[in-house]
Amino acid sequence: MMGPFQLNRAENGVEYLSLPELEAEGGLRAFFTSRNGGVSKGDFGTLNFGGYTDDDPADVAENRRRVYEALGISGCTEGFVRQVHKDRICSITSPDILEEDSFTINDADGLITNLEGLLIMTLHADCLPLFFYDRVRRVIAVSHAGWRGTAKAIGPKTIKQMQRDFGCDPADITAAVGPGISLCCFEVGPEVYEEFQRTFPRIDECGYRKDDGKYMLDLKKINRIQLEEAGAARVLVSEYCTKCNEERFFSHRRDHGRTGRMAAGMILLSR
Ligand SMILES: [Zn+2]
Repeated sequence: MMGPFQLNRAENGVEYLSLPELEAEGGLRAFFTSRNGGVSKGDFGTLNFGGYTDDDPADVAENRRRVYEALGISGCTEGFVRQVHKDRICSITSPDILEEDSFTINDADGLITNLEGLLIMTLHADCLPLFFYDRVRRVIAVSHAGWRGTAKAIGPKTIKQMQRDFGCDPADITAAVGPGISLCCFEVGPEVYEEFQRTFPRIDECGYRKDDGKYMLDLKKINRIQLEEAGAARVLVSEYCTKCNEERFFSHRRDHGRTGRMAAGMILLSR
């Protein structure tokens, strides 16, 4: 499939998507893992990244090790958030954190940093990953945008926090909306549509009502519009739908909640 996310298969078998247009700006890696190339079994087969699942923690650790090896970033500090579908984002600036191998920040849905060697990640199984890079100030961010986070405008709030905490100019920021559940598959009840009508004036451009009273919603388009309105210089949007690509992605909806997680990650490299 074409689009800004490119499919890669590493020598160790790990399959992942990269963002060549973003990485071309220099000095970073940006990726979204698939479900292929890991060691997890059953519903979590095979490249599950999620620690808060019923999967074997040893398998999850091996999966993560393989991904870092595939990306050439073994030995980095890995940073996670325990996501809660809200809009709190954490800015990380203290190099002390680089002495840790791994950390998780509770009750947050995004991370921003300017530290080289710190891998920031969000975890996904249908909810959209958002990526941000200010190439001038060398600041990266990832955030987690399901419908609740999107209704709370987590994308624009990530950009605002990059401005406030790091002096970023949105005109220097490239943003990307990664793989997730798409218009083809994202059916919601009227209460979800009504929530957007209260918070997002252009909702009528981003979905339609079906005969049964439910709605089909284009979360990617909502996020793209929000990020453009927040001033991002460019917004790249993935065409991949997680729900209808069973061979490549985990999907919370398709798999009725018992499934693995993909990682969206960014890391600044020294150059
Ligand atoms: Zn789909």
